[in-house]
Amino acid sequence: MVQNSPLSSLPTGEQHSQWDDKFIDSLFLPVFEVREDGAILYINAAGRQLLGIGEDEALPPFAVDLLHPEDRKRFLEELWSAGKRASRRNEYRLTPTDGSIIHVSGSMAPCRTDEELVVQRGFFVDISPMVEAEQQLRTSDERYALVSRGANDGIWDWDILTDEVYFSPRYKEIIGYAEHEFANHADEWRRRIHPDDLDMVVEANMRCIRGETDQFEVEFRMLHRDGNWKWILGRGAGLSDETGKVIRLAGTHTDISRSKNAEAALRASEELHSALSRASFEAVLIIENGVIVAANEATRRLFGHSLSELSGKAPASLMTPDSQNLVRVHLQKDSGEAVETTGQKIDGDTFHAELRSRSFRYQGRQTQVLSIRDISRRKQAEERYRTIFENALEGIYQSTPDGRFITANSTLATMLGYESPAQLMEEVTDIGKQIYINRSERERFVRELALHGQVRDFETQVRKRDGSLVWISQSVRAEKNLSGRFLHYEGFAQDITTRKTNELISAALYRISRAVSATADLTELYQTIHQVLREAISAHNFYIARVYPDENRLTFSHFQDERDHMYDLFDISNPETRGLTLDVIREGRSLFLKRDQLEHEMAEGRRVVRGTMPAVWIGVPLIMRDKTIGAMAVQDYENQNQFTDRDVLFLESVSDQIALAIERKSNEERIIRLNETLESKVVQRTAELERKASELEAANLRLRELDQLKSSLISSISHELRTPLTSIRGFAKLVARDISRKLCPMLEESSVEQLTDRMIGNLSIIESEGERLTRLINDFLDLSRIESGKTFWNDMEFDPSSILRETGRSIAGQLAGRPVQLEVNVPETLPCVVMDEDRLRQVMINLLNNAAKFTDQGRIGVQAGETDENLFICVEDTGIGIAPEHHRQVFDRFHKAGDGDTVPGRGGTGLGLSICKEIVEHYGGEVRLESQPGCGSRFTVFLPKKEDVSQKETL
Ligand code: ADP
Repeated sequence: MVQNSPLSSLPTGEQHSQWDDKFIDSLFLPVFEVREDGAILYINAAGRQLLGIGEDEALPPFAVDLLHPEDRKRFLEELWSAGKRASRRNEYRLTPTDGSIIHVSGSMAPCRTDEELVVQRGFFVDISPMVEAEQQLRTSDERYALVSRGANDGIWDWDILTDEVYFSPRYKEIIGYAEHEFANHADEWRRRIHPDDLDMVVEANMRCIRGETDQFEVEFRMLHRDGNWKWILGRGAGLSDETGKVIRLAGTHTDISRSKNAEAALRASEELHSALSRASFEAVLIIENGVIVAANEATRRLFGHSLSELSGKAPASLMTPDSQNLVRVHLQKDSGEAVETTGQKIDGDTFHAELRSRSFRYQGRQTQVLSIRDISRRKQAEERYRTIFENALEGIYQSTPDGRFITANSTLATMLGYESPAQLMEEVTDIGKQIYINRSERERFVRELALHGQVRDFETQVRKRDGSLVWISQSVRAEKNLSGRFLHYEGFAQDITTRKTNELISAALYRISRAVSATADLTELYQTIHQVLREAISAHNFYIARVYPDENRLTFSHFQDERDHMYDLFDISNPETRGLTLDVIREGRSLFLKRDQLEHEMAEGRRVVRGTMPAVWIGVPLIMRDKTIGAMAVQDYENQNQFTDRDVLFLESVSDQIALAIERKSNEERIIRLNETLESKVVQRTAELERKASELEAANLRLRELDQLKSSLISSISHELRTPLTSIRGFAKLVARDISRKLCPMLEESSVEQLTDRMIGNLSIIESEGERLTRLINDFLDLSRIESGKTFWNDMEFDPSSILRETGRSIAGQLAGRPVQLEVNVPETLPCVVMDEDRLRQVMINLLNNAAKFTDQGRIGVQAGETDENLFICVEDTGIGIAPEHHRQVFDRFHKAGDGDTVPGRGGTGLGLSICKEIVEHYGGEVRLESQPGCGSRFTVFLPKKEDVSQKETL
């Protein structure tokens, strides 16, 4: 054991050089001298030897350089206290240059003062063998301490020779097994080690077994029963037999999964943060005590300063001088809100920057994080949009559903009659109430937006600041954030008043022109016109006045007003009769008067207002073909700005059409009234005519009755005439015969003879005239029978050829003595006809008699034949002929062309041809005449053939 050093008793204050160096060098005990600051002054040969420092080699400057790091502090404390209290023996570990450790025990004491500094001298003894022996003992003790450590550790004890292992219940529990489920064999452990860790773990064990280490510590993963990997801290130590060979290893398993996972999570988090910091687009700086202590990569990119340059700077120094104060205030306020300022780069360039900062505690210190973003592009874009926004021809705005403007451009402000967007936004707090004329319109608009998210071309009339009205068209979108939460409306508005006015004008013109026919009367027309105007220009109070010049009167034909009633104005040609309406009519032009102006003009005596004073009044003349027929007017009692020039324009644009409509309707009413009079007249006339007609009919009837009476009268008279005529003729004949046969032979006297001759002559005249009269009566009777339908027609079917031949030849006697040749040229057979044979004979005899009568020489011919439908019979002569102007008349009754009768005593009745015509036409035929005076005549009779008769019947 080490004893107290003999040197410790050496007198202090003496130089070591005064010692016998050789003596000290020769000491086997290592001796040293150090200063109070630890600087080595001297080490003897034994010391050098122990430390492996050659005689010529320089000593290390300080004693602590030779000491194990863990022992240095203790050495220095001892050094500094050695002078103040009794020196103690201490043990240290020396670390010679060869890397080994030498355990020494020693003490020291002050020996002298070396210029203020105390020099200590000491010795030390090598106690390494002893310490090692001690350690051997302690190792085995430790092992047991180790194995018995904490209930949380599993314990294992491996018999290397048998490969059997003792696993404690906790050991098994850590990896999820019960006591009996885990065999006591090394394989159970080995096969559960993570393949990546196995080699390392086995090697740690092997080194212990090989005696290369006494103990080991390893971290590795073992498979838990649930399939997950458990992090295990394994500690172990070897136990040797008397020969030094390791025969057992024992140790503990500690479950370190939780800390291991936490460590991994921490590492991941750190990496993430670091990555985030590096990848961040905006500059992020950490500020402590007003200066930058850290900054990310983006800061360097943004400003150009290296990160080390930034460190220690005030953050405000990154801004332009003007904005530095703002930044300082912002950092002080630390509100977390963004602030816009101007950053300055290392090269002097400036940019728009947005700053945000927030305080937090970091490792117990108050720290601020400041983010700086370059918003130049955004600012540029904003600027561009601001220009567009400000200069847009459309009104642009953002508004809230409860009716406030969030933003608005000046176009919108102007459109709505405000001086600036600011004034608009300040004064309008309820768009639905203040801007819309009709609140429900705004509600409809909001509903549409809620339903569809947008509304396009929403046309509505709105009120300007001064109360006047404009038409606007809006296209609006409900703006939402990304998660769909409603933010506000964004819209465009266009002033469409001009277009709308034009549309309204044309619609109004159309409706007014239609109203002429669509309305029943003038009253309804006025109401329709009023309705049209009310819809277009909110003409609530409206009237139409009409002039009646003849009556020198103005009538308010239509008058609808919330305040006044109006009565006719008389004596309007008198200039003393005054009124706004009269002014319009007299001046023949529109008047647009607001109260101020009106009051002014009234004060000057230029205007007179009848009835209530209006706030605004528009009167427009109604002119029809350069004549003012009246006027119409709208007025409002409240709002001077209720109407604008546009409304005047509107009224003027439709006034002509209104005048026309009124005029037409008036005319129409007049015509209707006229029509009504006419109709009654017509009814009256018709009644008269009907009366006349029935009178005529009665007269007609009477005439027909008279006619029938006449016919029957004629018939009976004729009959009555015939009988006495026959007697007269017969007796005249008898007398004439008696005279000539009996009386004449008895009277030889010539005077008597003369007398009797004359008597006989006269008697023959009586006879021939009587005969003519008889014929006339016969013919007349015949004709009247035919006409009155009383004739009996003895119809039958026959071939007429023989009748034609027979009648043709019958006139031969009449031609005796005349150079007239008769030619009857009728075929043997002819198609049959159906008629009365006697009537055919009558026709033929009439025609032939006429031919004989009027032909002195030449020939008379009879021919017959057939056409497709008819049988024709032709009687021609070479007689005197008939002038064309008589052709038609010869068929009339009692017509005689002249005294052309050739044969004396055959004076005609003028009825023959009439009878022929009646007969032929009775059978559906026709008689045609061809003749020229002096060239003869040809009468052709056409009669339907029998087939055609039947055909006609079927037809
Ligand atoms: P009337 O008995 O007097 O002959 P008609 O009716 O038979 O009466 O004839 C009417 C007139 O037509 C005749 O008076 C005669 O002037 C004229 N007329 C008829 N037939 C002939 C004829 N063949 N040639 C010339 N004149 C004729």
